[in-house]
Amino acid sequence: MSEVRADRDYPPFDRSVRDGYAVCARDAVAGAKLRCVGEIRAGDNWTAPLRPATCVQIMTGAAVPEGADAVVMIEFTKREGDMIQFDRAASAGQHIVLRGNEARNGDVLLSVGARLGFAEVAQAAQVGAVELSVARKPRVAILSTGDEVVSPEQAPGPFQIRNSNSVSLASQVRLAGAEPVLLGNAPDRADKLRAAIEQGLKEDVLVLSGGVSMGKYDLVEPVLKELGAEFYFDAVAIRPGKPTVFARCGDTFVFGLPGNPVSTMVTFELFVVPALDLLGGAKPRPLPLLGAKLSHSMTEKPGIAHFLPARLDWPDGAPSVSALKWQGSGDIAAVTQANCFLVIPADRETLTAGETVSVVLRRDLA
Ligand code: AMP
Ligand code: MG
Repeated sequence: MSEVRADRDYPPFDRSVRDGYAVCARDAVAGAKLRCVGEIRAGDNWTAPLRPATCVQIMTGAAVPEGADAVVMIEFTKREGDMIQFDRAASAGQHIVLRGNEARNGDVLLSVGARLGFAEVAQAAQVGAVELSVARKPRVAILSTGDEVVSPEQAPGPFQIRNSNSVSLASQVRLAGAEPVLLGNAPDRADKLRAAIEQGLKEDVLVLSGGVSMGKYDLVEPVLKELGAEFYFDAVAIRPGKPTVFARCGDTFVFGLPGNPVSTMVTFELFVVPALDLLGGAKPRPLPLLGAKLSHSMTEKPGIAHFLPARLDWPDGAPSVSALKWQGSGDIAAVTQANCFLVIPADRETLTAGETVSVVLRRDLA
Protein backbone atom coordinates (compact mmCIF):
# COMPACT_ATOMS: atom_id res chain seq x y z
CA MET A 1 0.00 0.00 0.00
CA SER A 2 1.20 3.52 -0.74
CA GLU A 3 2.35 5.80 2.07
CA VAL A 4 -0.24 8.01 3.77
CA ARG A 5 0.81 11.32 5.34
CA ALA A 6 -1.01 13.86 7.48
CA ASP A 7 -2.43 16.66 5.29
CA ARG A 8 -2.46 19.11 8.23
CA ASP A 9 -1.90 19.03 11.98
CA TYR A 10 -4.12 16.65 14.01
CA PRO A 11 -6.02 17.87 15.79
CA PRO A 12 -6.01 20.93 13.52
CA PHE A 13 -6.77 23.19 16.52
CA ASP A 14 -6.59 22.87 20.30
CA ARG A 15 -9.58 20.56 20.77
CA SER A 16 -11.85 20.24 23.77
CA VAL A 17 -12.49 16.60 24.63
CA ARG A 18 -15.28 17.30 27.15
CA ASP A 19 -18.50 19.28 27.35
CA GLY A 20 -18.01 22.09 29.87
CA TYR A 21 -16.35 25.48 30.20
CA ALA A 22 -13.12 26.75 28.69
CA VAL A 23 -11.22 28.67 31.33
CA CYS A 24 -7.85 30.02 32.23
CA ALA A 25 -6.81 27.51 34.92
CA ARG A 26 -5.41 30.33 37.06
CA ASP A 27 -8.93 31.84 37.36
CA ALA A 28 -10.85 28.60 37.91
CA VAL A 29 -9.82 27.83 41.48
CA ALA A 30 -12.19 25.83 43.72
CA GLY A 31 -15.27 27.95 44.52
CA ALA A 32 -14.45 30.64 41.91
CA LYS A 33 -17.34 32.28 40.01
CA LEU A 34 -16.68 33.35 36.41
CA ARG A 35 -18.94 35.08 33.94
CA CYS A 36 -19.84 32.95 30.91
CA VAL A 37 -19.48 35.12 27.82
CA GLY A 38 -20.58 32.76 25.07
CA GLU A 39 -20.88 29.27 23.68
CA ILE A 40 -18.60 27.44 21.24
CA ARG A 41 -20.07 24.47 19.41
CA ALA A 42 -18.12 21.84 17.49
CA GLY A 43 -17.41 23.30 14.05
CA ASP A 44 -17.81 26.96 15.18
CA ASN A 45 -15.31 29.42 13.82
CA TRP A 46 -14.58 31.25 17.09
CA THR A 47 -11.74 33.74 17.03
CA ALA A 48 -12.26 36.00 20.06
CA PRO A 49 -9.65 35.42 22.78
CA LEU A 50 -10.92 34.63 26.27
CA ARG A 51 -10.66 37.63 28.59
CA PRO A 52 -9.32 37.12 32.14
CA ALA A 53 -11.86 36.11 34.81
CA THR A 54 -14.41 34.95 32.25
CA CYS A 55 -15.25 31.56 30.79
CA VAL A 56 -17.00 30.26 27.72
CA GLN A 57 -19.23 27.23 27.40
CA ILE A 58 -17.63 24.67 25.08
CA MET A 59 -18.71 21.39 23.49
CA THR A 60 -16.68 18.27 22.82
CA GLY A 61 -14.81 18.64 19.53
CA ALA A 62 -14.88 22.45 19.55
CA ALA A 63 -11.80 24.68 19.32
CA VAL A 64 -10.54 26.02 22.65
CA PRO A 65 -10.23 29.83 22.37
CA GLU A 66 -6.93 31.63 22.71
CA GLY A 67 -6.36 32.60 26.35
CA ALA A 68 -8.00 29.44 27.73
CA ASP A 69 -5.78 26.58 28.86
CA ALA A 70 -8.24 24.16 30.50
CA VAL A 71 -11.73 22.76 30.10
CA VAL A 72 -13.80 22.06 33.21
CA MET A 73 -16.43 19.34 32.84
CA ILE A 74 -19.96 20.63 33.15
CA GLU A 75 -20.58 18.05 35.91
CA PHE A 76 -18.23 19.99 38.23
CA THR A 77 -19.92 23.37 37.82
CA LYS A 78 -23.14 25.18 38.85
CA ARG A 79 -24.77 27.78 36.70
CA GLU A 80 -26.76 30.79 37.91
CA GLY A 81 -27.69 33.03 35.00
CA ASP A 82 -24.41 34.05 33.36
CA MET A 83 -22.32 33.13 36.39
CA ILE A 84 -20.60 29.73 36.58
CA GLN A 85 -19.34 28.40 39.89
CA PHE A 86 -16.48 25.91 39.84
CA ASP A 87 -16.56 23.09 42.44
CA ARG A 88 -12.89 22.15 42.12
CA ALA A 89 -9.66 23.70 40.88
CA ALA A 90 -8.80 23.29 37.21
CA SER A 91 -5.30 22.33 36.16
CA ALA A 92 -3.65 23.76 33.09
CA GLY A 93 -4.07 21.55 30.01
CA GLN A 94 -6.90 19.42 31.31
CA HIS A 95 -9.33 18.00 28.73
CA ILE A 96 -7.56 19.68 25.81
CA VAL A 97 -5.63 17.93 23.05
CA LEU A 98 -3.27 20.53 21.63
CA ARG A 99 -2.99 21.18 17.92
CA GLY A 100 -0.61 18.67 16.28
CA ASN A 101 -0.38 16.36 19.31
CA GLU A 102 -1.84 13.38 17.44
CA ALA A 103 0.07 14.06 14.20
CA ARG A 104 2.01 16.89 12.58
CA ASN A 105 1.38 18.01 9.04
CA GLY A 106 3.46 15.74 6.77
CA ASP A 107 3.95 12.93 9.32
CA VAL A 108 3.85 9.42 7.83
CA LEU A 109 0.72 7.82 9.31
CA LEU A 110 0.59 4.60 7.28
CA SER A 111 3.74 3.19 5.77
CA VAL A 112 4.24 1.05 2.69
CA GLY A 113 3.20 -2.55 3.39
CA ALA A 114 0.68 -1.64 6.10
CA ARG A 115 -2.32 -3.92 6.27
CA LEU A 116 -5.61 -2.05 5.87
CA GLY A 117 -7.70 -2.90 8.92
CA PHE A 118 -10.57 -0.84 10.27
CA ALA A 119 -8.28 1.65 12.00
CA GLU A 120 -6.08 2.09 8.92
CA VAL A 121 -8.98 2.85 6.55
CA ALA A 122 -10.27 5.36 9.11
CA GLN A 123 -6.80 6.93 9.22
CA ALA A 124 -6.72 7.24 5.44
CA ALA A 125 -10.23 8.76 5.42
CA GLN A 126 -9.28 11.25 8.16
CA VAL A 127 -6.51 12.76 6.06
CA GLY A 128 -8.55 12.66 2.84
CA ALA A 129 -6.52 9.84 1.24
CA VAL A 130 -9.56 8.55 -0.62
CA GLU A 131 -7.57 6.60 -3.20
CA LEU A 132 -4.79 4.25 -2.16
CA SER A 133 -2.58 2.11 -4.32
CA VAL A 134 -2.58 -1.38 -2.88
CA ALA A 135 -0.96 -4.71 -3.71
CA ARG A 136 -3.00 -7.12 -5.78
CA LYS A 137 -4.45 -9.93 -3.67
CA PRO A 138 -2.59 -13.15 -4.39
CA ARG A 139 -4.78 -15.61 -6.30
CA VAL A 140 -4.80 -19.00 -4.67
CA ALA A 141 -5.95 -22.07 -6.60
CA ILE A 142 -7.50 -24.70 -4.33
CA LEU A 143 -7.47 -28.30 -5.51
CA SER A 144 -8.53 -31.24 -3.40
CA THR A 145 -7.54 -34.75 -4.40
CA GLY A 146 -8.91 -38.20 -3.72
CA ASP A 147 -11.03 -40.85 -5.44
CA GLU A 148 -13.33 -40.92 -2.42
CA VAL A 149 -14.15 -37.19 -2.48
CA VAL A 150 -17.46 -35.81 -3.81
CA SER A 151 -18.65 -32.22 -3.80
CA PRO A 152 -20.70 -31.07 -0.76
CA GLU A 153 -23.87 -30.79 -2.86
CA GLN A 154 -23.66 -34.46 -3.82
CA ALA A 155 -24.96 -37.40 -1.81
CA PRO A 156 -21.87 -39.48 -0.96
CA GLY A 157 -21.86 -43.23 -1.56
CA PRO A 158 -21.34 -45.42 1.53
CA PHE A 159 -17.54 -45.10 1.36
CA GLN A 160 -17.27 -41.62 -0.06
CA ILE A 161 -16.85 -38.32 1.79
CA ARG A 162 -17.85 -34.77 0.96
CA ASN A 163 -15.15 -32.26 0.03
CA SER A 164 -14.91 -30.11 3.15
CA ASN A 165 -11.25 -29.15 2.62
CA SER A 166 -11.92 -26.92 -0.38
CA VAL A 167 -14.49 -25.09 1.75
CA SER A 168 -12.25 -24.58 4.81
CA LEU A 169 -9.34 -23.60 2.54
CA ALA A 170 -11.40 -21.02 0.65
CA SER A 171 -12.45 -19.52 3.96
CA GLN A 172 -8.87 -19.45 5.24
CA VAL A 173 -7.60 -17.93 1.97
CA ARG A 174 -10.17 -15.13 2.21
CA LEU A 175 -9.37 -14.56 5.87
CA ALA A 176 -5.68 -14.27 4.95
CA GLY A 177 -6.58 -11.48 2.50
CA ALA A 178 -6.13 -13.49 -0.70
CA GLU A 179 -8.47 -14.57 -3.52
CA PRO A 180 -9.54 -18.23 -3.68
CA VAL A 181 -9.92 -19.90 -7.08
CA LEU A 182 -11.81 -23.16 -6.61
CA LEU A 183 -10.70 -26.00 -8.88
CA GLY A 184 -12.78 -28.76 -7.28
CA ASN A 185 -11.40 -32.25 -6.82
CA ALA A 186 -9.00 -34.38 -8.85
CA PRO A 187 -9.10 -38.18 -8.63
CA ASP A 188 -5.99 -40.19 -7.71
CA ARG A 189 -4.96 -40.70 -11.33
CA ALA A 190 -1.73 -39.18 -12.58
CA ASP A 191 -3.12 -37.87 -15.89
CA LYS A 192 -6.20 -36.24 -14.35
CA LEU A 193 -4.21 -34.87 -11.42
CA ARG A 194 -1.58 -33.46 -13.74
CA ALA A 195 -4.19 -31.65 -15.84
CA ALA A 196 -5.79 -30.14 -12.71
CA ILE A 197 -2.40 -29.10 -11.28
CA GLU A 198 -1.51 -27.43 -14.59
CA GLN A 199 -4.71 -25.44 -14.26
CA GLY A 200 -3.68 -24.42 -10.73
CA LEU A 201 -0.21 -23.35 -11.88
CA LYS A 202 -1.82 -20.41 -13.71
CA GLU A 203 -2.35 -18.74 -10.30
CA ASP A 204 0.13 -17.20 -7.82
CA VAL A 205 -0.25 -20.04 -5.34
CA LEU A 206 -1.63 -23.56 -5.63
CA VAL A 207 -2.85 -25.28 -2.47
CA LEU A 208 -3.60 -28.98 -2.76
CA SER A 209 -5.20 -31.17 -0.13
CA GLY A 210 -4.54 -34.88 0.13
CA GLY A 211 -2.32 -37.21 -1.84
CA VAL A 212 0.96 -36.34 -0.08
CA SER A 213 1.28 -39.31 2.29
CA MET A 214 3.02 -42.63 1.68
CA GLY A 215 0.06 -44.45 0.10
CA LYS A 216 0.27 -46.13 -3.29
CA TYR A 217 -2.17 -43.56 -4.69
CA ASP A 218 -0.62 -40.45 -3.14
CA LEU A 219 0.49 -38.92 -6.43
CA VAL A 220 0.90 -35.20 -5.73
CA GLU A 221 4.67 -35.27 -5.26
CA PRO A 222 5.49 -37.46 -8.27
CA VAL A 223 3.23 -35.39 -10.53
CA LEU A 224 4.78 -32.13 -9.28
CA LYS A 225 8.24 -33.63 -9.92
CA GLU A 226 7.20 -34.52 -13.46
CA LEU A 227 6.17 -30.90 -13.94
CA GLY A 228 9.64 -29.74 -12.86
CA ALA A 229 8.81 -28.52 -9.35
CA GLU A 230 11.64 -27.46 -7.06
CA PHE A 231 10.94 -28.77 -3.54
CA TYR A 232 11.76 -26.72 -0.44
CA PHE A 233 10.51 -29.36 2.00
CA ASP A 234 8.30 -32.44 1.89
CA ALA A 235 7.81 -33.24 5.57
CA VAL A 236 7.57 -31.26 8.80
CA ALA A 237 8.03 -32.41 12.40
CA ILE A 238 4.49 -31.57 13.50
CA ARG A 239 1.30 -33.45 14.17
CA PRO A 240 -1.14 -33.06 12.60
CA GLY A 241 0.48 -32.15 9.30
CA LYS A 242 3.64 -34.24 8.95
CA PRO A 243 3.58 -34.88 5.15
CA THR A 244 3.19 -31.17 4.19
CA VAL A 245 4.99 -30.28 0.95
CA PHE A 246 6.22 -26.87 -0.18
CA ALA A 247 7.54 -26.39 -3.71
CA ARG A 248 7.79 -23.95 -6.55
CA CYS A 249 6.72 -24.78 -10.05
CA GLY A 250 7.48 -22.06 -12.58
CA ASP A 251 6.25 -18.83 -10.97
CA THR A 252 3.74 -20.56 -8.73
CA PHE A 253 4.30 -21.54 -5.11
CA VAL A 254 2.73 -24.90 -4.36
CA PHE A 255 1.62 -26.22 -0.98
CA GLY A 256 0.64 -29.87 -0.79
CA LEU A 257 -1.27 -30.17 2.48
CA PRO A 258 -2.32 -33.50 3.98
CA GLY A 259 -5.96 -34.42 3.31
CA ASN A 260 -7.17 -35.00 6.84
CA PRO A 261 -9.34 -31.94 7.46
CA VAL A 262 -7.69 -30.81 10.71
CA SER A 263 -4.21 -31.30 9.20
CA THR A 264 -5.27 -29.17 6.24
CA MET A 265 -6.54 -26.39 8.52
CA VAL A 266 -3.49 -26.37 10.83
CA THR A 267 -0.84 -26.52 8.11
CA PHE A 268 -2.54 -23.72 6.17
CA GLU A 269 -2.35 -21.47 9.25
CA LEU A 270 1.27 -22.35 9.97
CA PHE A 271 2.77 -22.29 6.47
CA VAL A 272 0.45 -20.72 3.91
CA VAL A 273 -0.69 -17.59 5.79
CA PRO A 274 2.84 -16.10 6.12
CA ALA A 275 3.53 -16.88 2.44
CA LEU A 276 0.35 -15.04 1.42
CA ASP A 277 1.36 -12.07 3.56
CA LEU A 278 4.70 -11.84 1.76
CA LEU A 279 3.16 -12.27 -1.68
CA GLY A 280 0.59 -9.59 -0.86
CA GLY A 281 3.41 -7.13 -0.12
CA ALA A 282 2.95 -7.12 3.68
CA LYS A 283 5.19 -8.19 6.51
CA PRO A 284 4.33 -11.77 7.51
CA ARG A 285 2.11 -11.78 10.55
CA PRO A 286 3.55 -13.66 13.48
CA LEU A 287 1.57 -16.68 14.63
CA PRO A 288 -1.18 -15.48 16.99
CA LEU A 289 0.45 -17.14 20.01
CA LEU A 290 -0.70 -16.60 23.57
CA GLY A 291 0.51 -17.99 26.89
CA ALA A 292 -2.09 -19.77 29.05
CA LYS A 293 -2.20 -22.02 32.10
CA LEU A 294 -2.84 -25.64 31.30
CA SER A 295 -5.91 -26.84 33.22
CA HIS A 296 -4.88 -30.52 33.33
CA SER A 297 -1.83 -32.75 33.03
CA MET A 298 -1.22 -34.60 29.78
CA THR A 299 1.25 -36.75 27.89
CA GLU A 300 2.01 -36.70 24.16
CA LYS A 301 4.53 -38.50 21.99
CA PRO A 302 7.84 -36.54 22.06
CA GLY A 303 10.05 -35.75 19.05
CA ILE A 304 7.31 -33.97 17.14
CA ALA A 305 5.43 -30.74 17.94
CA HIS A 306 1.69 -31.14 18.48
CA PHE A 307 -1.13 -28.70 17.67
CA LEU A 308 -4.21 -29.95 19.48
CA PRO A 309 -7.72 -28.49 19.32
CA ALA A 310 -8.26 -26.75 22.64
CA ARG A 311 -10.50 -24.36 24.47
CA LEU A 312 -9.14 -21.13 25.92
CA ASP A 313 -11.16 -19.48 28.69
CA TRP A 314 -10.63 -16.68 31.20
CA PRO A 315 -12.33 -18.10 34.32
CA ASP A 316 -10.83 -15.53 36.72
CA GLY A 317 -9.36 -13.08 34.26
CA ALA A 318 -6.28 -15.22 33.55
CA PRO A 319 -6.16 -17.38 30.42
CA SER A 320 -6.62 -21.10 31.04
CA VAL A 321 -6.54 -23.78 28.34
CA SER A 322 -7.89 -27.32 28.12
CA ALA A 323 -7.22 -29.79 25.31
CA LEU A 324 -10.44 -31.15 23.82
CA LYS A 325 -11.21 -34.81 23.41
CA TRP A 326 -10.75 -35.65 19.74
CA GLN A 327 -10.48 -38.59 17.41
CA GLY A 328 -7.42 -37.32 15.54
CA SER A 329 -6.95 -35.25 12.45
CA GLY A 330 -10.22 -36.21 10.75
CA ASP A 331 -12.29 -34.79 13.61
CA ILE A 332 -13.74 -31.51 12.29
CA ALA A 333 -16.36 -31.44 15.06
CA ALA A 334 -13.61 -31.12 17.69
CA VAL A 335 -12.25 -28.00 15.95
CA THR A 336 -15.69 -26.40 15.91
CA GLN A 337 -15.59 -26.65 19.72
CA ALA A 338 -12.05 -25.21 19.83
CA ASN A 339 -11.01 -21.57 19.80
CA CYS A 340 -7.27 -22.35 19.67
CA PHE A 341 -4.68 -25.06 19.15
CA LEU A 342 -2.58 -26.06 22.12
CA VAL A 343 1.11 -26.23 21.18
CA ILE A 344 3.20 -29.01 22.67
CA PRO A 345 6.87 -28.52 21.74
CA ALA A 346 8.78 -31.48 20.30
CA ASP A 347 11.04 -31.76 23.36
CA ARG A 348 8.17 -32.21 25.84
CA GLU A 349 6.40 -35.43 26.75
CA THR A 350 4.53 -34.76 29.98
CA LEU A 351 2.91 -31.44 30.77
CA THR A 352 1.62 -30.70 34.27
CA ALA A 353 -1.56 -28.93 35.29
CA GLY A 354 -0.86 -25.27 36.07
CA GLU A 355 2.17 -24.85 33.82
CA THR A 356 2.20 -22.12 31.19
CA VAL A 357 1.83 -23.36 27.64
CA SER A 358 1.44 -21.68 24.25
CA VAL A 359 -1.70 -21.69 22.19
CA VAL A 360 -2.26 -20.56 18.60
CA LEU A 361 -5.53 -18.67 18.41
CA ARG A 362 -7.99 -19.47 15.68
CA ARG A 363 -7.65 -16.32 13.58
CA ASP A 364 -11.28 -16.39 12.52
CA LEU A 365 -12.45 -16.20 16.15
CA ALA A 366 -9.68 -13.98 17.60
P1 AMP B 1 -4.91 -38.25 2.15
O1 AMP B 1 -4.05 -37.15 2.69
O2 AMP B 1 -5.22 -38.08 0.70
O3 AMP B 1 -4.33 -39.60 2.47
O4 AMP B 1 -6.29 -38.15 2.91
C1 AMP B 1 -6.33 -38.35 4.31
C2 AMP B 1 -7.75 -38.37 4.82
O5 AMP B 1 -8.35 -37.12 4.56
C3 AMP B 1 -8.63 -39.41 4.17
O6 AMP B 1 -9.45 -39.97 5.19
C4 AMP B 1 -9.44 -38.61 3.22
O7 AMP B 1 -10.67 -39.23 2.95
C5 AMP B 1 -9.61 -37.26 3.91
N1 AMP B 1 -9.76 -36.23 2.90
C6 AMP B 1 -9.01 -36.10 1.78
N2 AMP B 1 -9.44 -35.06 1.05
C7 AMP B 1 -10.49 -34.53 1.70
C8 AMP B 1 -11.35 -33.43 1.43
N3 AMP B 1 -11.21 -32.70 0.34
N4 AMP B 1 -12.32 -33.14 2.33
C9 AMP B 1 -12.45 -33.89 3.44
N5 AMP B 1 -11.66 -34.93 3.75
C10 AMP B 1 -10.69 -35.27 2.89
MG1 MG C 1 -6.05 -39.22 -0.72
